Amino acid sequence: MLLLYSFKLIKHFMNSKKVYVAYTGGTIGMKPSDKGFIPESGYFSQQISSLPELASPDMPAFEIHEYDNLIDSSNITPEDWYRISQDIESRFDEFDGFVVLHGTDTMAYTASALSFMLEDLSKPVIVTGSQIPWSQIRTDARDNLITSLLLAGNYDIPEVGLYFHNRLYRGNRARKLDASGFHAFQSPNFPAIAEVGTKITVNEELLLTEPAQRLKIQKISPPKVIILSLFPGFPAELLENVFSSDIQGLVLMTYGMGNAPCNDKKLLDLLGQASKQGVVIVNCTQCYKGSVDMSGYETGHGLLDAGVISGFDMTPEATLTKLSYLLSSDCTVEEIKQKMQLNLRGELTN
Ligand code: ASP
Repeated sequence: MLLLYSFKLIKHFMNSKKVYVAYTGGTIGMKPSDKGFIPESGYFSQQISSLPELASPDMPAFEIHEYDNLIDSSNITPEDWYRISQDIESRFDEFDGFVVLHGTDTMAYTASALSFMLEDLSKPVIVTGSQIPWSQIRTDARDNLITSLLLAGNYDIPEVGLYFHNRLYRGNRARKLDASGFHAFQSPNFPAIAEVGTKITVNEELLLTEPAQRLKIQKISPPKVIILSLFPGFPAELLENVFSSDIQGLVLMTYGMGNAPCNDKKLLDLLGQASKQGVVIVNCTQCYKGSVDMSGYETGHGLLDAGVISGFDMTPEATLTKLSYLLSSDCTVEEIKQKMQLNLRGELTN
């Protein structure tokens, strides 16, 4: 990846830890303009260079690389996820931990995608950003960056985390649930892996185990996967069009514990046919919290009979990225169905 701006490694003599910061864009480094906040090359790196806290000996040394094409995260693509993964892999042995600066809008997708793409991860990768840019006086960027650097440099966290507003969440468990509040992210089905108050408390018993093998990365190809949310009156014909394309996976957002109308024969027939033809259909609940269990109601059984598999308590972001990741591997459809229902990176409880 072409990196135009490389902030020199700030060395501290009392802290020998080193963190690599991949700055991809997002509000954190944006500048006000007449079209609203926009990312601008060089601006953020220049802004943070004047913050004395970052030069404190209590901080790990860090190197920041600004990507050549800074983006609002609404523009992120699987190709960008691959670039971030390659970037981390290429600097992996030189650093103790990694921070990815990213926009909040799609941060939960990126944190989930990285958790699957970075196989056998043995060091912390902390994704963070802010709701207010660094340049503004009421910014939340300072704490999010400083604490992410401390977490990445000083703690053994062998996984992808998402740090925001005093909490470190497992990346593939987090969701953006507030468009403007500072407490923008939550992890509905899994506790925070670290809590930050006057002390930083890492809940070590929740962490993934450190792998024995070295990191390797797997690309996510542009996914032929979509998410569809059911609603009362959902036109089953819509699925005819969806399945007549070359789709390989469908994340179906259902009601409650994974229920869908059992009086809509067309809907269930179309799902059943697609599943038989090899489309992997994963049931994800529309509820904020809780898990899919299709055995509880007649309305769930219809989906089970149609070959739909359970997404258990995975977030939609984790379900979509996990399915895309598996579809990009050389697994067969049957293996993908099995793995979707297994806990690969702490993303699911079953
Ligand atoms: N639109 C911005 C982005 O996702 C929002 C943010 O960073 O908070 O890049």
